[in-house]
Amino acid sequence: MSVFTIKNLEKSFGDHEVLKDINMTIDEGEVVVIIGPSGSGKSTFLRCLNLLETPTKGEIYYKETLINSKTDARRLRQDVGMVFQRFNLFPMFTVLKNVMYAPMEIKNISKKKAEEIARDLLVKVGLEDFADDYPATLSGGQQQRVAIARALAMQPSMLLFDEPTSALDPELVNDVLVVMKNLAKAGMTMAVVTHEMGFARDVADRVIFMDKGYIIEEGKPADIFSHPKNERTQIFLQRVL
Ligand code: ADP
Ligand code: MG
Repeated sequence: MSVFTIKNLEKSFGDHEVLKDINMTIDEGEVVVIIGPSGSGKSTFLRCLNLLETPTKGEIYYKETLINSKTDARRLRQDVGMVFQRFNLFPMFTVLKNVMYAPMEIKNISKKKAEEIARDLLVKVGLEDFADDYPATLSGGQQQRVAIARALAMQPSMLLFDEPTSALDPELVNDVLVVMKNLAKAGMTMAVVTHEMGFARDVADRVIFMDKGYIIEEGKPADIFSHPKNERTQIFLQRVL
């Protein structure tokens, strides 16, 4: 079943057309990696999927239901979690409480149950020993892994990642990618904007190349990376590989 079906999506800011005639689907369990130059509309596209942006035209179906201004966006975002470049953890909460907070506040899960879920997730992201620490004492990579655990605590059916490793020192990138890779292996549906081409090659089921608001090319990673058909894809890949 498709998690998202996107038809003729367009998004403008004023008279600046940022997304132009985007058509695609994201299937259950699929890992879609979106690549492309800065300013090509990748973030705006992800943000349309959980209604952080309102599309100007076109249709987005989430599990076969049209989402629009009448959709309960908060509810949608519980189901379609997002991990940002900047992790925005709550600085005054411990790591454990950061992960427990939303399930308790938004889903009314009991404290005991929330703690159980949170501790399990901290094991998953390799941070079980940091439960009582505060975010500021952690490295950027550790903070991003807490942010992933926090997103997972809502038991989303899908996760959106917007350049989750771009703000990290190079030596911290891999630990975050490993966590994401494990999620992918466990069957999580994911849409990932990243410049980590190694990750795209290894983990993506499908790679989408965007430029100037258009999907220029999409396909299996082996095809996109080894035999890009479009000249703009070729030029972009020459620069980043
Ligand atoms: P990418 O993530 O690929 O770098 P973005 O989706 O962030 O691209 O941005 C695409 C274009 O849309 C850019 O030109 C950017 O300046 C513009 N843009 C993004 N968000 C806004 C906004 N809230 N208001 C006006 N312009 C925006
Ligand atoms: Mg972006």
